[in-house]
Amino acid sequence: MSTPSLLILPGDGIGPEVMAEVRKIVDWFGKKRDLAFDVSEDLVGGAAYDAHGAPLSDATMARAQEADAVLLGAVGGPKYDDLDFSVKPERGLLRLRKEMDLFANLRPAQCFDALADFSSLKRDVVAGLDIMIVRELTSGIYFGEPRGIVQEGNERVGVNTQRYTESEIDRVARAAFELARRRGNKVCSMEKANVMESGILWREVVTKVHAESYPDVELSHMYADAGAMQLCRAPKQFDVIVTDNLFGDILSDCAAMLTGSLGMLPSASLGAPMANGRPKALYEPVHGSAPDIAGQGKANPIACILSFAMALRYSFDKGEEADRLERAVEAVLAQGARTPDLMGPEGGAPISTTEMGDAVLDA
Ligand code: ATP
Ligand code: MG
Repeated sequence: MSTPSLLILPGDGIGPEVMAEVRKIVDWFGKKRDLAFDVSEDLVGGAAYDAHGAPLSDATMARAQEADAVLLGAVGGPKYDDLDFSVKPERGLLRLRKEMDLFANLRPAQCFDALADFSSLKRDVVAGLDIMIVRELTSGIYFGEPRGIVQEGNERVGVNTQRYTESEIDRVARAAFELARRRGNKVCSMEKANVMESGILWREVVTKVHAESYPDVELSHMYADAGAMQLCRAPKQFDVIVTDNLFGDILSDCAAMLTGSLGMLPSASLGAPMANGRPKALYEPVHGSAPDIAGQGKANPIACILSFAMALRYSFDKGEEADRLERAVEAVLAQGARTPDLMGPEGGAPISTTEMGDAVLDA
């Protein structure tokens, strides 16, 4: 088997800072665990615009299509605020997602015991929480036609269209059931079948995919509003939640706050299987380029480190190594290592981005 390839796109702001810590860990796996990657680095976002006048060059796009996995830091920053929309840093990321056809966005919400007091909820509601939200990413109301602001008589009307095809629902449902089999074997599908046609079809297709291909997985359905309530009341009842683009956007941000800091949250966006059977995949921290702290050694590298752990699990089939890395993160947090974003009211001395990366590496 050839060496698996990993394309690293550090991007802008704190992106390169947190990625430098991940790079140490990637290299460690090569040296100590005999898990070598063919790593290449390239530009995306403002960094790519500065170099080529475009937030993602055709050459970089082609490399992303070839790679077994892409790991991205963050894009954007105030320096690029006045650029034309067509070359904004964010467009580089959007192009990657669109051309790789990444339809399943995975957002885990995992609560490390050492940080349980950071949650917006009581400790016992979130301690040990480990759920995964699968959000459909390429369709739904954000993309449906017709859309626009149109004149109707003497007033204007804002129009968006919620639209889902059977095949779009089918493929994201399969992604969710596959994931559930590797986790707690439970899927809760959320829509609004009580008031939306797309919700009726969603429930129908998910039920059919389940009966035909995944009868071993436990399936339940919830209206998305009730789901939001349950997520805030008793989140540990869930394992995998699968939902559409709009509800997923909202529910995953809600779930994020169950766990504390933005600096802790990884994500994966998966597409169709490649020749090797693994999905096309882009891994990135949930946070942005954080211009307010860029260049100061204050960024928490854990979100990006955990994004690499997801890559180990879902793109390289190295679940045990992913567990190893997650346990290292848990251990350093338990020892009290804290970047400034993780400082609680009890105070103490924060450590830097590099020190956090080194601590994880040591663990
Ligand atoms: P984007 O539009 O790119 O999503 P944003 O404006 O929503 O960006 P972020 O760039 O994620 O937001 O930053 C939001 C806040 O969270 C900022 O105050 C930032 O400093 C903080 N933050 C984000 N990521 C981290 C991190 N890894 N470590 C520490 N603080 C962070
Ligand atoms: Mg944001």
